[in-house]
Amino acid sequence: MSDRVLVINSGSSSLKYQLVDVDSGTALASGLVERIGEETGDVVHRSVDGEPIKLQVKIADHAAGLRLAFDMLERTGMSLSGSSIAAVGHRVVHGGEVFYRPTLITDEVMKEIDRLSALAPLHNPANIIGIESARELLPQVPHVAVFDTAFFHGLPDAAATYAIDSEVAREHGIRRYGFHGTSHEYVSGQVAQVLGRPLDQLKQIVLHLGNGASASAVRYGRAIDTSMGMTPLEGLVMGTRCGDIDPGIIMHLRRSADMDVDQIDQLLNRRSGLKGLCGDNDFREVRRMIESGDSAAQLAYDVYVHRLRRYIGAYMIELGGVDAITFTAGVGENSPTVRADALAGLESFGIAIDQDRNNSQSRAARVISIDDARVKVLVVPTNEELAIARASIACIAAD
Ligand code: ADP
Repeated sequence: MSDRVLVINSGSSSLKYQLVDVDSGTALASGLVERIGEETGDVVHRSVDGEPIKLQVKIADHAAGLRLAFDMLERTGMSLSGSSIAAVGHRVVHGGEVFYRPTLITDEVMKEIDRLSALAPLHNPANIIGIESARELLPQVPHVAVFDTAFFHGLPDAAATYAIDSEVAREHGIRRYGFHGTSHEYVSGQVAQVLGRPLDQLKQIVLHLGNGASASAVRYGRAIDTSMGMTPLEGLVMGTRCGDIDPGIIMHLRRSADMDVDQIDQLLNRRSGLKGLCGDNDFREVRRMIESGDSAAQLAYDVYVHRLRRYIGAYMIELGGVDAITFTAGVGENSPTVRADALAGLESFGIAIDQDRNNSQSRAARVISIDDARVKVLVVPTNEELAIARASIACIAAD
């Protein structure tokens, strides 16, 4: 049987895809389809060898976007027909309390994912559109849903429960689910490999710092806390999301600024975080602004790092000490400054970064703490696509 998996991550107006060879753990091809439904859409397709192929055409809907992607794959010699691929793995954001392992997609499963849209109105409907289009185009292949919440399914009740009226919470599914689980699980597993120590003996903090950002505390391979909550809005300061705020602010905006729920949603999800504080959500740009003396960018950065340190501190206590602290995703993998500032002055806790290691531009998973530090600090590139591909293969093998 082929061990190739097509991984699809479908957003509201975009689609990411990657053809993964699970045996070797490599991407054979990948692409991004953006601005679906707009006047002109963008497609960028990359194969292992050869220049990226770029297209600008109107892409009516997700099915049209996927058809374009499949065309590109075929044109660059990557067949999707017959038994060329073992499965299609779909990233699904919210699995609620129902889905906590990779799940073979059936009509029943689709109904359930749709029902969970109430909990993730910005995400699950977009995932569903992508799955439906892919099932139509590739009906002969098993499709597997891999949930972003799954790794956090077993959070202890004390970490998963909001202190609000418990009946209201039960009725409306209000609890902490956590997100980016595929990344946190993959990265914490990689850390054990890099350190050559068993996963079930490590207490870890994983910091996934991308456009979205989240922290997790992982004890002996299981998540015991995470910074995102019922939605991906809670926790760290992100590119455009506020992370933790006093919920009283929402009532205040409703009453005093006469903003309706959709406006508040827009404000907190799209016009907050780094962007809200200094006008840009791209971390590289924020750093450039700081270097040119922009005080708003400096404050945005300070708030970002302050929140990060608060979570690191909390998780060190929750875990009862920590063996490894790991940075991953766009900012975590690429910004030595954030890594250094997030862990500055913690030598008395056994945490000390080696400057040269931190500043090296490697793409490899690596340790950046000094040799005799009690706590290992690592940079580990995340690979959610590979994790989804592996999970998909395991799911169909078990079925
Ligand atoms: P997501 O998958 O959540 O969209 P990514 O993990 O791709 O996000 O991370 C995107 C973030 O990473 C952006 O804020 C971007 O500025 C930041 N980033 C990418 N490269 C660098 C770099 N070299 N230095 C600092 N930040 C970077």
